Amino acid sequence: MLATQESSSTNGARYGYKLSDFQLIKTLGTGTFGRVYLCQLKGTPKHYAMKMLRKVEVVRLKQVEHINSEKNILASVKFPFIVNLLCTFQDERNVYMLEEYVVGGEMFSHLRRAGRFSNEMTKFYAAQITLALAYLHSMDIIYRDLKPENLLLDHDGNIKLTDFGFAKIVHDRHVVRLVQYLAPEIIQSKGHGKAVDWWALGILIFEMLAGYPPFFDDNPFGIYEKILQGRIVFPPHFDPEAKDLIKKLLTPDRSRRLGNLKDGADDIKDHKWFQGVDWQALLNRQIRAPIVPVCTHPGDTRNFESYPEVTDEPNSSISLDPFQHLFKDF
Ligand code: AMP
Repeated sequence: MLATQESSSTNGARYGYKLSDFQLIKTLGTGTFGRVYLCQLKGTPKHYAMKMLRKVEVVRLKQVEHINSEKNILASVKFPFIVNLLCTFQDERNVYMLEEYVVGGEMFSHLRRAGRFSNEMTKFYAAQITLALAYLHSMDIIYRDLKPENLLLDHDGNIKLTDFGFAKIVHDRHVVRLVQYLAPEIIQSKGHGKAVDWWALGILIFEMLAGYPPFFDDNPFGIYEKILQGRIVFPPHFDPEAKDLIKKLLTPDRSRRLGNLKDGADDIKDHKWFQGVDWQALLNRQIRAPIVPVCTHPGDTRNFESYPEVTDEPNSSISLDPFQHLFKDF
């Protein structure tokens, strides 16, 4: 039923979807102003992930723009390694994003369980992420929140990038105009371009190979200091070519950072560490993934952490929705 709607629109309200059409089964993840549920469309065997966000919290935390942008960006992208948004809708209390259910859980859990990933495993994931970031950048979208918690594994073990709450559309023309007016102190404290994603890829490759990130400390200021000092201590087991790529991605000067040069993402794909990767086969999902998640039925949640469930007051107690106009796209 949803399949035909996928191609025509992501706006579920147009089809009259409402919360009561779905059975909420289990919490898959939580955020500051909402949670993500495994749900089933009643009367069908179909399972989905439903991101439910409390309007009043979204407004209180000044996240209206972020949420609308997350919806619009997710609705405009289609890529094998990016989560598929099927439709959105709203009621008096919440906005909803209905996504494909990605059964393999967060890469974060798999990484913590394994301790660290081997060079070949890391290369597989890094290559898929490189393709996903290159695709987003080709659409003038910066992802800005790359981390193992936002990378899910699908039933075959391929990556699905999720959580576009920080993603942003940048038109190069706008960036150029913006940069023309920037004071030096702003330039030093803010990344505006696609280069931030390539820096994050460097951090992620390091964390997958080491089991911990390159810059860490007990408090955020300590982490900032270490990032600014830029000293990376590589564990001895790192492949020298992986080390070389990480150094080139973790180049503080954005104008010299790999990925942000004349040939963009191609420089990363052509790096020695990726030599031998069949990029087309990878894109076609024809390469066997290093971890194939265990999953015995479509609604299997064994790959997700457990969260305390909440019981919500029924929506019928709310008669007015002061925020509807803020979420017109849903
Ligand atoms: P988010 O608010 O999008 O970061 O989602 C919070 C958490 O919910 C994620 O880290 C995942 O564990 C889970 N989650 C989000 N989207 C999905 C999805 N489409 N399928 C399965 N789990 C998801």
